[in-house]
Amino acid sequence: MEFTLEEMRGHLAALEARIAEACKIAGRSRDSVKLVWVSKFHPAEAVENAISLGATDFGENRVQEAELKFSEPRKALNGERVRCHVIGPVQSNKLKKAAIVADCIHSIASIEAVEKLERVCAALPGNGAGASQGKILDILFQVNAGEEETKSGLDVHEAEAFLNGLAETNFPHLRFRGLMTIGKNTGVAEDSRECFAFLRGLQQKFLAKGGVFAHFDQLSMGMTGDLEVAIEEGSTMIRVGTALFGERDYSKPVNDPV
Ligand SMILES: *Cc1c(COP(=O)(O)O)cnc(C)c1O
Repeated sequence: MEFTLEEMRGHLAALEARIAEACKIAGRSRDSVKLVWVSKFHPAEAVENAISLGATDFGENRVQEAELKFSEPRKALNGERVRCHVIGPVQSNKLKKAAIVADCIHSIASIEAVEKLERVCAALPGNGAGASQGKILDILFQVNAGEEETKSGLDVHEAEAFLNGLAETNFPHLRFRGLMTIGKNTGVAEDSRECFAFLRGLQQKFLAKGGVFAHFDQLSMGMTGDLEVAIEEGSTMIRVGTALFGERDYSKPVNDPV
């Protein structure tokens, strides 16, 4: 069952209280943490409700579902265009579609994906973000900082070498914005602190290098279960689904015709 608008309003208030408390503990301003509403497995109506509550950024982990909900531009309450974040692993043959629908892809983890994205973005219509031709796309690199076999992303021991390998590259349509990780899925938020702190160290190190890492100021980490720890460790984007939209019904994919 999807939440009603009033239920969502209550859940948002509770979530904002959690975020505010974590920001206070960390000595950070609320503005320094972006809330990405993870709408996967929830229908377009849930997205509409979220927008009426002030949502500006949404996360989807499957490209097809992102297209279904975000191909048509939507307007946020603040008048800006709603932004779509692709947060799940993208197969090579779906990278073009992901580049079209997304404002930011959080889950890049190979040089092949980077090269392909550059090619497809160069051929897309301009989005006014600086290039005269082609779309400028923000990307984050996913690191498997929790070192879990089931999780995708760069191997934690290879991430630094991978990033070093990008230092001399030139991908004019891609903006390397930072790093993303999924914390440890133990049910205990504290268990993720170490991997969040590791990610922050790596992000800061590369931001300081400048060059292709001049915009490397984003850390996408923290979900419903561990967002406080993520904020304390420097997250700039928390990706929250369950706390806003309720439990996902995996038996009913949104893009399956019923
Ligand atoms: C589903 C998902 C989330 C949201 O998780 P919740 O625990 O529901 O907040 C965040 N990040 C990624 C990559 C996801 O796939």
